Parts: sequence; C-alpha cells; structure tokens
Amino acid sequence: MPQKNSVSESRIRTIVSVCSKCAICCSEPVVPVTESDVRRIMKHTGMEARRIVRLYSYSEACYDQDSDLWVQFSYGRRLLGLKKKQGHCIFLSPANRCTIYDFRPLTCRTFPFQESDSNTGPPIKLIRDVVKCRLKVPDAKLQPGLKKQMALEDHEDDLYERKVRKWNRQKEPGGFSEFLRLLKLAK
Ligand code: SF4
Ligand code: SF4
Repeated sequence: MPQKNSVSESRIRTIVSVCSKCAICCSEPVVPVTESDVRRIMKHTGMEARRIVRLYSYSEACYDQDSDLWVQFSYGRRLLGLKKKQGHCIFLSPANRCTIYDFRPLTCRTFPFQESDSNTGPPIKLIRDVVKCRLKVPDAKLQPGLKKQMALEDHEDDLYERKVRKWNRQKEPGGFSEFLRLLKLAK
C-alpha cells in the first residue's frame, strides 16, 4: 500500500522501489481489520472505533467466505473493515498517501504478500488475485522484516478470531455496539 515519504526501513525500500503507489489496494474492495489494528489507530488518532470501522456484507467485501473473520449478527454475517469515503479508505490522502502510516493495519503492512502454504516453494508469495496490484518483486528478494510483520499479523488474527468464534457461538447475537464492547473498543 502507498508509503509515506519518510519511511526508511530496508524491507520497505525493496517494496517501495517497485510499488507504483497507484493506491488501488487502498480503494478496492475492503481492508479487514482486527481489534488490535483498531486499538492502535484509536490510540494514535484519538478517534472512536465507530469513526474508523464499519461492518461489510459479503457483496460489499468480496472476501473469503470461509474466513474466521466473519461475525454473525441477527441480520447476517459481516466483516469488520476500515471505513471508506468516495471509494477509498478514509485514511488515504488526496495525494495517495497513507495518513496513518506508522500505525496502519497489519494487513496494509504485509500486502501484497502472504506466507506460502507449500513447504517446497518460497516462504512468501505475492497475492495476485485480490486487486490489480502492479507491484513486481522476486520472492527471493523479500526482506526478513516482512516475515516478522506476518508473524505478528498471524498472532493478532488468532486473538481476534478467538473472540469472533466466542461471539458467533451465542444463540442470540447482539448488534454492532455490543460487538465493539466485547472487543473493548467501546463503552
Ligand atoms: S496496489 Fe500494489 S502497486 Fe498499487 S499501491 Fe498497492 S502495493 Fe503498490
Ligand atoms: S490504512 Fe493506509 S495503507 Fe491501509 S488502506 Fe488505508 S490508506 Fe491504505
């Protein structure tokens, strides 16, 4: 996702050199987040959770229907994602820069890469089927720092998914406000 000018980590340099900063990944379709992502943004921006995230339906999110990130409500399953304005993430500036770069969601940090399922191929691969990302970088050139971000992302995904599973086991799930309270993102 588009990078801020001042970033200098070596892992970012490799990616920035081939990222066209087209911001497509900040505009299509939805950026799914965990409670940890939201909490970091709340802490640094002072914004309330409801100003940062909203719930998305299947048709809006175009997201893996088998994912454990889907939250059950009385009106159907929904995905927690960053809010959008005029077709792109609310944190994208008119100059296509991320305005919360240092505390952006982990999925924004690792995009467009993911760990490979295969034990024989490269440990990290490019995701080419989510958005029309034009970034091209040989897998072998990926920096070790990316692996670290992915490990943290896995950890935070696990924590969040555990709470979502607990929520989804309820016979009569509550609404969005109750869900935010369960995550301790609202009072
Ligand atoms: S879609 Fe790909 S090329 Fe475009 S800004 Fe995002 S990472 Fe960079
Ligand atoms: S938080 Fe930043 S990097 Fe992530 S989608 Fe929004 S503008 Fe893009």
